[in-house]
Amino acid sequence: MNEPIIKFDKVVKRFGDVTVLDALDFEVGKGEKVTIIGPSGSGKSTVLRILMTLETINEGVIHVAGKPLWHQYKDDALVPASQEHLREMRKEMGMVFQQFNLFPHMTVRRNVTEAPIHVLGLSKEKANQRAEEYLELVGLSDQADKFPSKLSGGQQQRVAIARALAMRPNIMLFDEPTSALDPELVGEVLTVIQRLAQEHDLTMLLVTHEMQFAKQISDRVCFFDKGRIVEEGPPEQVFTEPREERTQEFLKAFL
Ligand code: ADP
Ligand code: MG
Repeated sequence: MNEPIIKFDKVVKRFGDVTVLDALDFEVGKGEKVTIIGPSGSGKSTVLRILMTLETINEGVIHVAGKPLWHQYKDDALVPASQEHLREMRKEMGMVFQQFNLFPHMTVRRNVTEAPIHVLGLSKEKANQRAEEYLELVGLSDQADKFPSKLSGGQQQRVAIARALAMRPNIMLFDEPTSALDPELVGEVLTVIQRLAQEHDLTMLLVTHEMQFAKQISDRVCFFDKGRIVEEGPPEQVFTEPREERTQEFLKAFL
């Protein structure tokens, strides 16, 4: 593995009495494409949401690009992160959700330019150029003036990918990006993600149930259960000869 760009050290996350991440140790190398698989409720989304700073952690430390995420150093001591530190750290990451989460009252173009203008301070002109670049990458240059409701689910998800990329993050997080799509629209979204994986040195962390796809694009697959990594390894190994019984049981459902 390259030097880690994401590093979880003994991270504990609880919701009330429920321990969702149980002293999780987890690393992703720079440029690595990692897929997380596992049963519903095993903590997959929580890992991504914590990275996006949408959820806090209870214990442990996370580093992203060498800097603590939920903490910062003050006089050599780790203290809780300030809002300003969190804002800076967020720029490392872009996330694509199961439910595309586009702004419904904005055109496709404005969906993509909104954060570059308001978070990064780009001029409208520069942001529009970027929008063109990334809409082209996802094959939607001709849809820029439409509103999301006029697009298919697959197109909306591709806009969501362009929107995340327009912030030029170093890390892209995908949380079941095709789970809400009609089967005939899954392929176009997977094709875009696959192209990203092949042609860009982005670090990618992807939660999916598309096992064939995971096999094709991942450098490493992690099987989560009950907030821990039960098994991880290259896709050929985890998918074809899983060592752990729980992994075998889980994968049976996808044969
Ligand atoms: P997965 O994505 O693997 O299906 P999640 O990370 O979404 O799992 O959830 C892990 C566990 O945490 C589940 O038991 C879920 O019910 C619980 N959980 C997630 N978010 C919240 C929340 N905001 N409040 C309470 N419980 C939550
Ligand atoms: Mg989930």
